Amino acid sequence: MAFADKDDVQRLQDLLEGAEDVVIFTGAGISTESGIPDFRSPGGLWTKYKPIDFSDFMASEEMRRESWRRKFAMDRTMATAEPNRGHRAVARLVDTGKVSAVITQNVDGLHQASGIPDMQVIELHGNATYAKCLGCGLRHELDPIKEAFLADETMPICAGCGSEFMKTATISFGQSMPEAEMARAQELEMTRHEVVILASLVEKETAAPAERPQIASVFHNRLRIGMKLECDPTIVYGIENYDGVIHKSDIRNPHPWNTYVHPGLPKGPIANPGGEAIQAVLHPDETRYLYFVSRNDGTHHFSTSYAEHNRMVQKHQR
Ligand SMILES: [Zn+2]
Repeated sequence: MAFADKDDVQRLQDLLEGAEDVVIFTGAGISTESGIPDFRSPGGLWTKYKPIDFSDFMASEEMRRESWRRKFAMDRTMATAEPNRGHRAVARLVDTGKVSAVITQNVDGLHQASGIPDMQVIELHGNATYAKCLGCGLRHELDPIKEAFLADETMPICAGCGSEFMKTATISFGQSMPEAEMARAQELEMTRHEVVILASLVEKETAAPAERPQIASVFHNRLRIGMKLECDPTIVYGIENYDGVIHKSDIRNPHPWNTYVHPGLPKGPIANPGGEAIQAVLHPDETRYLYFVSRNDGTHHFSTSYAEHNRMVQKHQR
């Protein structure tokens, strides 16, 4: 925090004295005095090294090699770094019992080194002191990886599953969402591929963003009870020369995407779903709806019973 004048310092002191429970948030700035380069400031690491995006890390062996080079170069700096007066001041506040936790964007471990118990330091960007296999999740200690890499740039391979996608346990740009999504997909007992397929149905069913979590809830509810999805766009997807009208014979067309014929998800996505459709599938509204019908104004009427649904079809689709 950059203080403009003494008043600000006094105000912070007053706030701390008046508060019962304080959480401290720190970023790169607190560690620059310890000799850890600030990534963002001019001359910082980002001007020298363009950050490696998670998708680039996954796509290119050279990017994975480069990330290990940087990791071990950074380690040399971190190995000699000591906590500075900022870390020590925070540690004193923790010591008084006033501060319950320190949330940090840093991966340098200097808050822990200043005497704050591990339990009270929350590292937002993960931890750079061990590696993880992205394939099977197995934890790997860094020392053997480092030794082999520094010898002749041997790239690590997971002993558990043979995957070449090994990474320090830090969170890269573009990585946090896929990890959170993967965890959520697991909760829903769906693979990422299945999430994308279902999201493609949501994408095609509605153009109204507010409706996506509702549409998603209908599909989830149907999958849960083994009811066919009966999603019209899946009929259309498999029809060659679609003339703009779904005919009775189309509904029975047994092509592999037709969810009126086949139970469960179609064999692949029927569109390229946007992020909002994916989020809707991962976080559907909690409803008991099993049906919806277009109101012909870009929105839908949702129903829990077939009787109600039928009335709405009569009303809107005549
Ligand atoms: Zn593995």
